[in-house]
Amino acid sequence: MTSQNNPDNTVLVLNAGSSSLKYQLVQPDSGTVVAHGLVERIGESQARVEHVQGDEKNEFVGEIADHQAGLAKVFDLFSEAGHDLGSEGIVAVGHRVVHGGPKFYRPTVIDDDVVAAIRDLEDLAPLHNPVNLVGIEAVRELLPDVPSVAVFDTAFFHGLPDHVATYAIDRALAKKHDIRRYGFHGTSHEYVSGATADFLGADRESLNQIVLHLGNGASASAIEGGRPVETSMGLTPLEGLVMGTRSGDVDPGVVMYLRRAADMDVDQIDTMLNREAGLKGLSGENDFRTLTEKVEAGDADATLAYKVYVHRLRKYIGAYMVTLGRTDAIVFTAGVGENAPKLRADSLAGLESFGIRIDSERNAARSREARVISSDDSAVTVLVVPTNEELAIARQSVAALAG
Ligand code: ADP
Repeated sequence: MTSQNNPDNTVLVLNAGSSSLKYQLVQPDSGTVVAHGLVERIGESQARVEHVQGDEKNEFVGEIADHQAGLAKVFDLFSEAGHDLGSEGIVAVGHRVVHGGPKFYRPTVIDDDVVAAIRDLEDLAPLHNPVNLVGIEAVRELLPDVPSVAVFDTAFFHGLPDHVATYAIDRALAKKHDIRRYGFHGTSHEYVSGATADFLGADRESLNQIVLHLGNGASASAIEGGRPVETSMGLTPLEGLVMGTRSGDVDPGVVMYLRRAADMDVDQIDTMLNREAGLKGLSGENDFRTLTEKVEAGDADATLAYKVYVHRLRKYIGAYMVTLGRTDAIVFTAGVGENAPKLRADSLAGLESFGIRIDSERNAARSREARVISSDDSAVTVLVVPTNEELAIARQSVAALAG
């Protein structure tokens, strides 16, 4: 067995979505990924598991009834590759949990009480927390002797200043229902801002950064000396930037208007804003790569969608530069941020008077590594820094177990 393929001292990291399950078996110290994979279309007859371990890739296509069956299939694929996850050296399972509500802002070792408390948050995150819990329950069933740790997407933003976290609505009502701006993608914003400081050889405390996490979901944050002072998502992951299928900011009046004028009920409006809006709502296409191809082919809807996306992003960058007062670094990350040079260039075009100059050659170069894409005379350093939420979750899980 090569060390690359050694499951000792590993953490199994799980990210459960409504019909999918992403997983990674990772060594938290070295960051070595022993195996990773994806279960898709759970609940359908043609579900698919792709499992990559070392140089081997295994695939399964067939019926997978639920998340537990999906996970059992993943365990089978591990066995076929020579590893019995039940008896080998997994020290923890780390679960991404989207909403920690007011109660959870540290990685938390999961027991029955924690499961119940996460379940109590289902009203705050109806699209996310229930499926995260399904993943937790499946693991506790299949690996009863391995401790599970919940790592919350909201945790990093727990310390947002009060005036940033507060919506201007009736205070008693907000308090009663725990309504505040929580922020999401916190694991990524924390990891990427730390990795940026390390890459630049700077103290976290000395650096003011704007981090742009642009994936299927998208969010921006302003980070002052390592502490978040603004972020674009709010009570739920719907606020802020335009996303693959989410609208981001809309006038809240749109919701009431649709209720009255279009006779849509709350669930229909929820579905429309979360699943049928954003790039998909504007152009029919939520995948950024395909959207870009359509823009290049001259598709008018795709072009408008792209422009709306860029406009919203620039608005947030401008707002956060003022929030920070001094911006040292602007950092692009996640699928779109790491891979779409034109989007990066368009988001920061014409901002030379704000001290931002992109070097087009550096921006166009392809790499999986952290890199600077601004020119040497740019006052603000612009970077691409790959995120690694799985590694961050693995490390936080081990730290939580160490107490
Ligand atoms: P998730 O939020 O699911 O973790 P990712 O961070 O993986 O999402 O980002 C997925 C998005 O990244 C998709 O819209 C995809 O089209 C986009 N993306 C991936 N590769 C490229 C690329 N080469 N060019 C443009 N967009 C890309």
